[in-house]
Amino acid sequence: MNTAWSIEFIRIFSLILSTLLLGAVSGYWLFSVVLHSGLYIGWNLYQLKTFERWIRKGAPKNSAPDTTGVWQLTVQHIYRSQKSNKDRKKQLTKVATHYHAIMSALPDATIILSKNREIEWSNKRAEKLLGIDSQKDIGQRFDNIIRDVELNKLFSSDEEESVLEMTSPIDSQTRLSVFRKHYGDDKTLLVVSDISQRLAVQKLRKAFIANASHELRTPLTVISGYLEILETEEELPPAIGKVIKSASQQALRMEQILNDLLVLSKLEESRYSVSSGEVINVAMLLNRLVADFKVTHNATGNDFELTVDSTLNLKVIERDFYSLCQNLLSNAIKYSKEKSTIKICWSLSDDGQACLAITDFGEGIAREHLSRLTERFYRVHIERSQKVVGTGLGLSIVKHILDNFGGYLDVQSEQGKGSTFTACFPRSRVLFSDASKKH
Ligand code: ADP
Repeated sequence: MNTAWSIEFIRIFSLILSTLLLGAVSGYWLFSVVLHSGLYIGWNLYQLKTFERWIRKGAPKNSAPDTTGVWQLTVQHIYRSQKSNKDRKKQLTKVATHYHAIMSALPDATIILSKNREIEWSNKRAEKLLGIDSQKDIGQRFDNIIRDVELNKLFSSDEEESVLEMTSPIDSQTRLSVFRKHYGDDKTLLVVSDISQRLAVQKLRKAFIANASHELRTPLTVISGYLEILETEEELPPAIGKVIKSASQQALRMEQILNDLLVLSKLEESRYSVSSGEVINVAMLLNRLVADFKVTHNATGNDFELTVDSTLNLKVIERDFYSLCQNLLSNAIKYSKEKSTIKICWSLSDDGQACLAITDFGEGIAREHLSRLTERFYRVHIERSQKVVGTGLGLSIVKHILDNFGGYLDVQSEQGKGSTFTACFPRSRVLFSDASKKH
């Protein structure tokens, strides 16, 4: 038993002893019991009053009730728990101040919104990029301060995270990227970054590539022309003839690269909306493409297996779609054996997208290369690729075309067995010539 409880029991024992003694000496037993009980209750009431006053003042250490027994033990417990609460509060305040300082120092504007899009917190950068005052605008609705249709769409999106690009409401020269994420109990986090510089560098890079490709094309055509003339010269020694043939092949390759780079820079410039394009009859286009390939790639003798849903049409720009099919089909021929089968399938997927799948039974691609295939100039086997004519830009062009139309490219491949490249287009671009199939 601890000391506090021992003191309490000694106190009660002494009171009982004193009650018995007074009762026995005076003969007034009832008086003795009432007197001692009164004393005990009175003392406890006094302790309770002092204790309550101390708690009311916030339980300060310097005015803790001077008491003994269980009361002293209780005072000690309260004091200790009060102290540990204060320590924890101090620690939390320190963490919160530290966190606040970090958030304020972030190079991006950070804003926290409540369920009703009211501003709960924002940092200094939000003032610079969006004109939101981190003090005065607390509690204001974000969409009342910044009125932007696109931004409203960003808020109404059901996705947990979404990103949008917009012009700064306070500076028309500044382009912003807005990242939105829902978290916790209906809270929204907005992170806004200034991307003007990045966009300017990107624009400069694109313009440089387009200009350089354009400027190089003319002299290269002249060189190719001269090489072609020299190639037909019969009096040249065989060794020189070989060199000229090789130079001519390299010039042709350079021309292809420049052409592809120009196609890419045009695709990067394009701004396609959901409604852009014309309705094309894909079945007809694929039949024409295969017929052309049978003539132009006569030497490879491939067998083309065409499965098309002839009711399935697409709203796209025909030239771009044709270039996409051409790239995928020529790859299937290039990277598979002569006379092998190539399957072309145009169909509707289960989720309503229109997909073009081109399957070959060629060399296939190792898994580690799959994610990099659409990078510019990425070729799987550099040494072997130099023998197979190509620019390393074909799949980059395919990806750009699909991005522009809101589609995507899926690649399934197994080394030594073959590959399937599937280009899918969104439902919004799908149309049916047979009305009964409308979704
Ligand atoms: P390239 O002009 O070299 O064909 P692409 O961008 O079209 O450039 O393709 C990039 C690389 O992807 C190719 O170099 C090749 O290694 C690989 N590749 C593309 N299509 C196929 C295919 N059907 N089978 C195997 N490898 C392929």
